[in-house]
Amino acid sequence: MKLIERLEKYCLTPAMAGFEDEMIKNLKADLNEYVDEVRVDVLGNVIATIKGTDSSGSSLMVFAHTDSLGMIVKKIEDNGYLRLERVGGVPERILPASNVVLQVAPGKTINGVIGFVSHHLTPPEDKYKVRQINDCYVDIGATSAAEAAGAGIKVGTPVLYRPSFEKLINNRVAATSIDDRGGCALLVEIAAHFKKHRPAVTLHIVGTVQEEFNLRGAMVAAAQLNPTAAICIDLVAASDTPDIPSGNGVRIGSGPVVGTYTFHGRGTLNGLIPHPKMVELVEKSAASKKIKLQRHATLGLLTDASYVQLVGKGVATVDLAWPTRYTHSGVESCSLEDLEGLRELLIEVIGSFPTKERFERG
Ligand SMILES: [Zn+2]
Repeated sequence: MKLIERLEKYCLTPAMAGFEDEMIKNLKADLNEYVDEVRVDVLGNVIATIKGTDSSGSSLMVFAHTDSLGMIVKKIEDNGYLRLERVGGVPERILPASNVVLQVAPGKTINGVIGFVSHHLTPPEDKYKVRQINDCYVDIGATSAAEAAGAGIKVGTPVLYRPSFEKLINNRVAATSIDDRGGCALLVEIAAHFKKHRPAVTLHIVGTVQEEFNLRGAMVAAAQLNPTAAICIDLVAASDTPDIPSGNGVRIGSGPVVGTYTFHGRGTLNGLIPHPKMVELVEKSAASKKIKLQRHATLGLLTDASYVQLVGKGVATVDLAWPTRYTHSGVESCSLEDLEGLRELLIEVIGSFPTKERFERG
């Protein structure tokens, strides 16, 4: 399967944080073709291993998250409308008049729309106002609470952007959940490569759960594997659109990106200053394969890497990313060329990973 086909398949699979089962099944089955062993832990992390040719005991965990952000039904109104809470960083300003699906059973969804005041009836003073989540509601066509219940809706039903995947020109795509199905698709590409070219280092390929909820799964996976080093694969927000003049300088179509600094700066006071030797490895690998590499330092961004670095006696960790526009919306956009560049970079970093390196500082 080509990268774009796998990306499409994964982007079209609804799998909100805590409800990742369809993605867990996909990833486990797809990795199973290429790895020595694959298992799923209690939280839902998919943990695959390709044993290295060097038995010195060093190991590398390469991971991406299988879940997406979404919403959850908090109340069914008597008239059949559904009230919501956010799960993860859903931007409220894009919600009204959007298409959603409600996951009423594993693998089974029904359609809904988030309502808004008809344009013809909107008072002028409300034209430019953002509605908060508590004022949003989902309309599934039900006229009573009983009808909504009959359609399978309960308090706790996951609500997601309606999955879509569109090709744009210039090898670009716009889709739901490119965050982090792009990373998941790359995990399988890496596994396929290293089945044929067994690396020196033992490679753990991990699909983590509940990242969007608050970075829950990756820590548990790392605690089980106790890796020497780790590479987090996730997107980085690009700032090459006309509305972000003071952004991080990351451009789509300009290649993969190494993180040099992330800090959430609100809510979760976590982030990652990567291990310098991991950054050096990435830079050397990019240079040796003549891969254009961007760097980013981004406030407001956070990945699973920030918690993985803290596991056990510490894990030498780095963020590798591909640039994506319109993050956390239903039209996240990226370039396939950047994803392919990141794949080549990962193959080089993993293939040349120094198994004798102990990552001491100073
Ligand atoms: Zn992500």
